[in-house]
Amino acid sequence: MSINNLLHFEAIITQNISASWLLDSQSRLSLLRLDLLHPVVSGNKWFKLQFYLADAVQNNAKTIATFGGAYSNHIVATAFACQQWGLPCVGYIRGAPQYLSHTLKDAMSYGMQLQFLSRSDYRRKNELMPEHPEYYWIPEGGYGITGAEGAATILSHATALSSYTHIVAATGTGTMLAGLIRGACAHQHVTGISIMKGNNELPQLVSELLSGEEKATFHIEQDYHFGGYAKHPPQLIDYINTCWHQYQLPLDIVYTGKAFFATEQMIRQHTIPAGSNVLFIHSGGLQGNLSLPAGTIPFS
Ligand SMILES: *Cc1c(COP(=O)(O)O)cnc(C)c1O
Repeated sequence: MSINNLLHFEAIITQNISASWLLDSQSRLSLLRLDLLHPVVSGNKWFKLQFYLADAVQNNAKTIATFGGAYSNHIVATAFACQQWGLPCVGYIRGAPQYLSHTLKDAMSYGMQLQFLSRSDYRRKNELMPEHPEYYWIPEGGYGITGAEGAATILSHATALSSYTHIVAATGTGTMLAGLIRGACAHQHVTGISIMKGNNELPQLVSELLSGEEKATFHIEQDYHFGGYAKHPPQLIDYINTCWHQYQLPLDIVYTGKAFFATEQMIRQHTIPAGSNVLFIHSGGLQGNLSLPAGTIPFS
């Protein structure tokens, strides 16, 4: 069975936002809704994985292996993609299995075999790889040039791509951002919103995934992490609720909620100059909201 029959590429739309703060700055803002690709494997993760899996199949790999935490969108996306490709897969998970998160339950339901590593073993996870030369290893978060090449295909789903002056996206490992820079036009500026606190190596990590041919410029914003990775203070939850009511826009607590907040602030404060036409990448991740107590947000 081909995975393309189950992912809804035709459902990816470009959504225009109407808001007074956009009128005030004479800017326009649209979202590329990658979250509509699939309810669980929504967003950028499938794009980052696609060429790794194609490479694995081409090299006759029998088993895929990768790493992640208990709430990792990458883990569940890898599990799903491997099931559709008919490839067995192993997920090495950071921490002890005291209870299974929604993410890990979903990953298991797609057939991923879970192996738990203590935090100290997880830090030494690269030593595992030579022990299993029979596995096709995908780096944590899909970080790598193969992942960036996959992410570069994201922009082919945007309508009127060249009309945008700015592209903004949430940034974790930097793989998607590198892909967006690879795929962007020469006149475009790409902004990554780091969702981690003080990840100062990020610009370097992104640069390492570029070919050197890119014409678009980029930078990383470090001030919108809301306290750090996966931290979700009430202010962020309120903002996500407001966006749902005002724009029917579902955002997640780890990535897109923070990045969309940042985008609004940058437009209001003219860090993104007045008169710009901004494309925000809704990179998915909504399954992460399942870790919230029921009723915290009105969708999911
Ligand atoms: C993983 C993820 C990101 C970050 O992608 P990177 O390539 O690791 O920078 C952004 N948004 C969502 C929803 C994600 O799941």
